[in-house]
Amino acid sequence: MRRPFVAGNWKMNLDRRGSVGLAADVTRLLGAWDRRGEVEVAVCPPSCYLDAVARAVDPAVLGVGAQNMYHQPDGAYTGELSAAMLLDVGCKYVILGHSERRHILGETDEDVNRKVKAALAAGLVPIVCVGETLDQREAGKTLDVIRAQFAGSLDGLTADEMKGLVIAYEPVWAIGTGKTATPDQAEQVHLDLRKIMADCYNREVAETVRIQYGGSVKPDNAAELLAKPNIDGALVGGASLKADAFLAIVRGAVR
Ligand code: PEP
Repeated sequence: MRRPFVAGNWKMNLDRRGSVGLAADVTRLLGAWDRRGEVEVAVCPPSCYLDAVARAVDPAVLGVGAQNMYHQPDGAYTGELSAAMLLDVGCKYVILGHSERRHILGETDEDVNRKVKAALAAGLVPIVCVGETLDQREAGKTLDVIRAQFAGSLDGLTADEMKGLVIAYEPVWAIGTGKTATPDQAEQVHLDLRKIMADCYNREVAETVRIQYGGSVKPDNAAELLAKPNIDGALVGGASLKADAFLAIVRGAVR
């Protein structure tokens, strides 16, 4: 059975004190929860606070992830961070291909693919985001978009490499908008993703890879979304900035 995985994407929010305080609060609440072993949980702070947050948490209780990285191991890449640097400051995960990076910062599937390969080679767990815009959904192109993003972002990976990553289905129209995909809409895309994995790899890969849903997940809609058999957790933006709300979502992931 796939272990549910809930990750908080703090984006470009909080300061040093707020980041460390939030991580400590989440760790404390998780530590006091008797079912914490049933859900994998991580937070992804701004990169300048990764080190401080990683020092403030017990990695057995709460993992730490970055929101981006560069594919090269080192060199003249001003402003970028390598996979080894992220590991060095205590990261286990890295979010790659988030729609804000794709749509605001112009990241392509090829960029994401290079990063995924570098992250896996270094030993990080990539959380690879895919998702359609509202126009694409309304034009009936959701499946085509997901298929193309899957093919481009995960091109050339072996079955074993696939099993080392997490996919996040994040419809762009639901991110930070308060609009959520209905549990049935989300479940359908998660099922489509499993079919794509079965076609491109095999059934074992399709059944093993965890697929998170992301897009305005809140305490009051989490349990219904996470009850769907193919939704294996959540990537949470806004609601991950409050420890109580984030924990309520984590509790909703218990199967
Ligand atoms: C996200 O940034 O990945 C996200 C899903 O944000 P929000 O929960 O705020 O929609």
